[in-house]
Amino acid sequence: MTSTENYIGKETAFGVNEKGYYGQFGGAYIPEMLYPNVEELQKSYLDIIYSSDFQEEFHGLLKDYVGRPTPLYFANRLSEKYNTNVYLKREDLCHTGAHKVNNTIGQILLAKRLGKHKIVAETGAGQHGVATATVCALMGLECIVYMGEIDIERQAPNVARMKMLGAEVRPATSGSKTLKDATNEALRHWINNPVDTHYIIGSVVGPHPYPDMVARFQSVISAEMRSQLLEKTGKETPDYVVACVGGGSNAAGAFYHFLDEPSVKIIAAEAGGHGINSGLSAATTFLGKPGVLHGSKSILMQTEDGQVVEPHSISAGLDYPGIGPLHAHLWESGRAKFFAITDEESIEAGFELTKLEGIIPAIESAHALGVLKYLEAKPNETVVINLSGRGDKDLATYMKYL
Ligand SMILES: *Cc1c(COP(=O)(O)O)cnc(C)c1O
Repeated sequence: MTSTENYIGKETAFGVNEKGYYGQFGGAYIPEMLYPNVEELQKSYLDIIYSSDFQEEFHGLLKDYVGRPTPLYFANRLSEKYNTNVYLKREDLCHTGAHKVNNTIGQILLAKRLGKHKIVAETGAGQHGVATATVCALMGLECIVYMGEIDIERQAPNVARMKMLGAEVRPATSGSKTLKDATNEALRHWINNPVDTHYIIGSVVGPHPYPDMVARFQSVISAEMRSQLLEKTGKETPDYVVACVGGGSNAAGAFYHFLDEPSVKIIAAEAGGHGINSGLSAATTFLGKPGVLHGSKSILMQTEDGQVVEPHSISAGLDYPGIGPLHAHLWESGRAKFFAITDEESIEAGFELTKLEGIIPAIESAHALGVLKYLEAKPNETVVINLSGRGDKDLATYMKYL
């Protein structure tokens, strides 16, 4: 295998500019109280994450703790069915069951180097909370996770995991008592504890430099894809790379090292919910408009007067009213093509993968699989699908369709 190290830190024409923007999207729209924290990060993140001791520790943990490189698996029977060549990037085999840990490992190592010994995070379904609590246990750092009161009830197994891992789970009791309220509480906590606390955001969202930083940590996914494709197909690039987009971190990681290769078609799968015209959807690029959410300008689902619309998706990880600014730019510039995959299509795709390959995917990842039938990929073409996570957490939902 060629060294993935060749790709680490590679700049892309679709990367963030010095002001933190991707085209018209991005930036840092934050209350003044947060300037010192965010500026500290903006000034130092690149120097820290590309220092040789950081890279050594980061890649050491990705290898021995997370289990990287994750396999690139040729899905034989799925390929036969769609009459093309489908490879699955197996992020479902990461420790904790999804790609999210790639980012939390990176951010905890950054926090240590900034001299922060407490971590705050917010979580919706609890996946990012678990990934954060995991690395806090690993490093012996104090961990507080804000979670909406309603989500705490809905996601009891993940709440138990976080507690077992030593995190304190604090309920957000205001507003709709879900992710957006947990985010507000976590930000308030950070404002009140700026010196000793680092805020770990779980996707390519939030104020600059978070989207770029998280994309760089997750870009290990496409770095590995390139060397694995070279080994398996004799060519480093596929014809298609496909990923689901909630906030967009697994997609950013899967797309990153292909963004500047015009021959690679970049395909994003959003959660269509009951259908884009049903009123129950999370397909941001189909339904959203430019606006500011969680500290950056992007596309988001909103009413005429700018109130954020409650999204709907069968998968908790895609149930988000916006997308990261990088993806808004990829969409606006036409570099990426977006599909809205409905709840039903994703469940069908999840069962199909299970029956054909013996792999139960997370319902988020099943949205990426749901794109296959629309691609019309040719028999000699190569499609790489990022399998962002495993489906154990979704069994109760799948069972309803058995
Ligand atoms: C959280 C999650 C997602 C959505 O988050 P992104 O930042 O868009 O990647 C997708 N898949 C799985 C398995 C998740 O846990």
